[in-house]
Amino acid sequence: MKRCFILALSLLFATACERNSYTLYSRRYHVSFTCDMAVSPYNQLSTPGRFISIRKIKSDNECKLHMVDSDGAKFDQELDARQDALFDLGLCGLIMGTPLFDNDSFSVWAFDLGCPECDQADVRLSFDQQGNASCSKCGGIWALNTDGVSTNGKKRPLFRYPVACNNGVLTVAN
Ligand SMILES: [Zn+2]
Repeated sequence: MKRCFILALSLLFATACERNSYTLYSRRYHVSFTCDMAVSPYNQLSTPGRFISIRKIKSDNECKLHMVDSDGAKFDQELDARQDALFDLGLCGLIMGTPLFDNDSFSVWAFDLGCPECDQADVRLSFDQQGNASCSKCGGIWALNTDGVSTNGKKRPLFRYPVACNNGVLTVAN
C-alpha cells in the first residue's frame, strides 16, 4: 500500500515537472483599465508595431496616468477619484499596442510593464521602436511584436492580459 502511494506521488511529480508552458493570460496581478482609442495617445494603439506604456503615478495632491510611446514621447492624463478607484494596472503598469506578427486580426494586446523574471513592482521594462522590451536589472529582452516571448533565453513570457474592444473603447481586465 505504502509502495503504491509513493509510486503515485512520484508519478504526480513527474507530470508536474513536465508542465513547462504558461497560460495565455496572467491572473497573477489584477488589471482593470479602459480608454478611448479616438483620443491621443491611445489613437496610436491601432497602428501595428507601435506600443505605449501606461502607468499610474500617485502623490498627495495628484493622481495621473503617465504614458510613453514608441518614440519616447511622454503624455500625462489627470485621473479623477472614480478613475483612480477603477484603474488597476497589474504589477507595474501596462504596455499596449498591436503586434505585427501572430496577430491575424490586428487586435490590441496588453502586456505588463513589469519584468516577468524579476517580478518586482519597481522593475519596469523599457522598449524601443522595434518593439524590443528590455529589463535593465536581469538583462532579459522580450519581443512585443511576437507574443511577448523572450529573445535571449528567459523562460517566462511577458505577463499578458485580455483586451476587449467595443465601439472604439478598449477594456483590459482579468
Ligand atoms: Zn528583469
